Amino acid sequence: MSIDISTQAAKSIKHTRLFIDGQFVDALDGAEFDSINPSTGEVITKVSEAKEADVDRAVAAARRAFDSGPWRTMTPAKRAAALWRLGDLLLENAKELATIETLDQGKPYWLAEVSDIPSAAGLFHYMSGWATKIEGNTIPISAPGNYHSYTRREAIGVVGLIVPWNFPLVITAWKVAPALAAGNTVVLKPAEQTPLSALALAELALEAGIPPGVLNVVPGFGPTAGAALTAHPDVDKVSFTGSTATGRRIMQAAQGNLKKLTLELGGKSANIIFPDANLEKAIAGSKDGIFFNAGQACAAGSRLYVHEDIFDEFVGGLKTMAEGIKVGDGFDPTSEIGPLASLEHFERVSGYLSTGVAEGAKAITGGVRVGDRGYFVAPTIFTDAAPDSTIIQEEIFGPVVVATKFRDTDEVVALANDTRFGLAAGIWSNDVSTVHNVAARLRAGTVWANCYGVFDPALPFGGYKESGWGREMGHEVLNYFTEVKTVIVSVDE
Ligand code: ADP
Ligand code: MG
Repeated sequence: MSIDISTQAAKSIKHTRLFIDGQFVDALDGAEFDSINPSTGEVITKVSEAKEADVDRAVAAARRAFDSGPWRTMTPAKRAAALWRLGDLLLENAKELATIETLDQGKPYWLAEVSDIPSAAGLFHYMSGWATKIEGNTIPISAPGNYHSYTRREAIGVVGLIVPWNFPLVITAWKVAPALAAGNTVVLKPAEQTPLSALALAELALEAGIPPGVLNVVPGFGPTAGAALTAHPDVDKVSFTGSTATGRRIMQAAQGNLKKLTLELGGKSANIIFPDANLEKAIAGSKDGIFFNAGQACAAGSRLYVHEDIFDEFVGGLKTMAEGIKVGDGFDPTSEIGPLASLEHFERVSGYLSTGVAEGAKAITGGVRVGDRGYFVAPTIFTDAAPDSTIIQEEIFGPVVVATKFRDTDEVVALANDTRFGLAAGIWSNDVSTVHNVAARLRAGTVWANCYGVFDPALPFGGYKESGWGREMGHEVLNYFTEVKTVIVSVDE
């Protein structure tokens, strides 16, 4: 049974305007942009477009809410209760939110409902627990005299959160939940390709008891709204997820007031199959590792290294699975993966497919568009690519994997680390020593062994090398949303 999209869309999309100081408002200059459904290329709705003056307003609201508003002075228990309630509200509104994600981003509706929305809710529930557990230390010191010294962990202030379009609500939750748990106030800029779920979140946040001004949402474009937020002198920190190229721009723009930065950037993650792996499990896991979300995942296992003894069997099995994937409209319940999220991105990925072939690699399956409407690309496996070729070195961010043979462990560790990125990696082996030894030698922020793409709010995530700065999730993330204050009190004896 397929879903009646227009009825469901009309019911689900309630907000298309900027959210500033607890109100939905037009942009000051009245500007709007189109939000597009990548399954059809059609306009879903118009959305207010924030520019510098709107960002100023949002930052001012967040500043007031931080400096004199109720958020910082609210007890941690009350902050925790509001965040928990927001998690509950996401679950209660899962159908509407999943509809929005599918319309705007393209991903299968069934998947958004069972995965994206519960994951986002899980972040609020998990981080709610931390709001009451952000502690300092009492520190004995040796300086002459008699002192009581301790640290306090305090909110940083106004934080700018800039989010990409691959997992719009999930990555929003990765950032908003810890930022608020730690007592910061937020100006959130969703991606221009997928602005709608952040606006739905804003309404639910208000309903959950998060006061006006604490969470502001400014849809708009990177070079205007994003750049204004990043350069703003009254923003104390920016947490960004997106491409490495944009990450560099953000670093430069942030230098004015030396903003704190968290950057979660690109990846080109190695997924290594040793000859003693459970092949059936490894093939299925590697398939999801690259093709999940049409490969639009920063941690996608896009470089596959397969031992020469099992290369043909493994790659043959993966090819069969790739060819069995149903690519289609997200509202078709049989679709396993949807389109790429925008025309621009579809063109970028298509460019990589041509470059791969031009540089001498072989597409043993895929390599082409699916259908003639929307931005669908067939799951693609390349072999015979040189280690320094474009498709092995650059992040494609699409359903494209490059398989390479290896002979021994030292060789594959060197190949896996031969990249400027360092976000994640996979290892498939039944030898516990191989797993732990190789996990230690890989220069990557997350290593999955005999699984791939397992995320949890309790597990820190982030990159080595050019994959970024800092970590998200886990209690680790709280270090990136707080300042440490050292207090030394001279005590008379
Ligand atoms: P893509 O190029 O695939 O859209 P980006 O990394 O550029 O990926 O986009 C991720 C997010 O970064 C989006 O919200 C986008 O609007 C924002 N962004 C893009 N350029 C800038 C910029 N110069 N300053 C701040 N944010 C930006
Ligand atoms: Mg869209």
